[in-house]
Amino acid sequence: MQYDVIVIGSGPGGYVAAIRSAQLGLKTACIEKYATYGGTCLNVGCIPSKALLDSSEHFYNAGHTFQSHGINLKDLKVDIAQMMKRKTEVVQKNTAGISFLFKKNKIDAYQGMGSFKDKNTIVITAADGKTQEITGKNVIIATGSKPSSLPFIKIDKKRIITSTEALTLTEVPKHLVLIGGGVIGLELGSVYARLGAKVSVIEFMDGIIPTMDKALGKELQKVLSKQGMEFYLGHKVTGATVKGKEVTVTFDSPQGEKKELKGDYCLVAVGRVAYTDSLGLDKIGITVEERGRKITVNDHMETSVKGVYAIGDVVRGAMLAHKAEDEGTYVAETIAGQKPHINYNLIPGVVYTWPEVAAVGQTEEQLKAAGIKYKSGSFPFRASGRAVASGDMDGFVKVLADEATDEILGVHMIGPRTADMIAEAVCAMEFRASAEDVTRMSHAHPTYTEAMREACLAATANRPIHI
Ligand code: FAD
Repeated sequence: MQYDVIVIGSGPGGYVAAIRSAQLGLKTACIEKYATYGGTCLNVGCIPSKALLDSSEHFYNAGHTFQSHGINLKDLKVDIAQMMKRKTEVVQKNTAGISFLFKKNKIDAYQGMGSFKDKNTIVITAADGKTQEITGKNVIIATGSKPSSLPFIKIDKKRIITSTEALTLTEVPKHLVLIGGGVIGLELGSVYARLGAKVSVIEFMDGIIPTMDKALGKELQKVLSKQGMEFYLGHKVTGATVKGKEVTVTFDSPQGEKKELKGDYCLVAVGRVAYTDSLGLDKIGITVEERGRKITVNDHMETSVKGVYAIGDVVRGAMLAHKAEDEGTYVAETIAGQKPHINYNLIPGVVYTWPEVAAVGQTEEQLKAAGIKYKSGSFPFRASGRAVASGDMDGFVKVLADEATDEILGVHMIGPRTADMIAEAVCAMEFRASAEDVTRMSHAHPTYTEAMREACLAATANRPIHI
């Protein structure tokens, strides 16, 4: 065999699997169909969206909060071309970093579409149609996902767009109609709302970010409404059509009332489906699930075919970059004969709006449904000295702990820098800390992290100091 490991796809799952395999002394190849490495995350996902979120946040603050700091600016204007150029440079720096890491780790990188000839042979078809074959003892499928739509909506990529096109608009929409109040939609909706667009969110469920603790969705909706976004919850989209530069989105209210909104762009953000096109899975007998087209794997990420593994968005579980990375490491170490572990209950979820939303572990709704008795302690950022100083007083930290043992079962945060703060909760929970344990740890003052300690104090016998 030419290789010990062949990885198909170079997203966070694939490139991490390739690097970890090479670190463990396995001869490794990685195949990527696009010209740059890094997959959805680096090219059209996490990184460009965060670059635009940062830029738009600066613009919003310059127009809304700088005055209270005694900084007066006149004639603020958005230079969208420059904003997009910066975003592209950020992406390029990150994707170039992966090329560097591949070389450093002596990973053979192939450009082209990978497909199975048999379970050990992969055919690589380049853009010009030329093919070559490589063989490997183990194959890791890390082909990720692509945006999905509603069956009755045609994405024209100009006026009715997905997240990919929303990252490259050449103008700020006047009115962006957003279908879907989940993480990706709200992040991109926030970008354009901060830049001055009217943003209307139509969500089928009765709350935004519906998979997270309900209290987070409620608070986020309150803050985003203050920032000018409008919400149609429990509403069912029935169609979207384009005429010239105008998009009309039709939808039904919970009472069945027919409604419509007209905008210049409609962003469809209703989820993503696994990407397995052109892999030739049928040739080796791997089937995909009907719903979401995901590849079935066992607890060791191995498919029904021995020596063929699958990781990241293409398999069950949260569609998150860090989950894909963890699985990449897991499979490489498994192939190398180690016994790695992943705690799926402790994969944090983050929404990079402002305030940020971050959570790990079980929600109150899940604990109630499971009949687990718990204590809850909350601390609002308006009582945090650090938050008052920076002016970021929306939001709270909520800690849920087992009623009998005090073990932390879930932490739910909305507020400044909670995307970074959640790491403390993950760490505490991985080591099965009690809320009391966290209260006994020194937290630097003044920092936002003190809110975590205060919420733990609130959860243990209701004894927060600052509220
Ligand atoms: P991907 O990153 O999708 O990579 C798969 C790669 O495989 C692609 O490069 C593709 O071209 C390649 N490929 C596919 N088929 C073949 C083939 N046959 N041959 C060769 N190559 C192939 N997650 C977070 O954790 N945090 C965030 O902030 C975040 N923000 C996001 C924002 C947006 C707008 C979007 C769309 C997603 C975001 N995500 C975020 C999700 C995250 O991007 C994905 O969970 C992550 O990229 C999945 O990694 P992956 O390795 O499984 O697949």
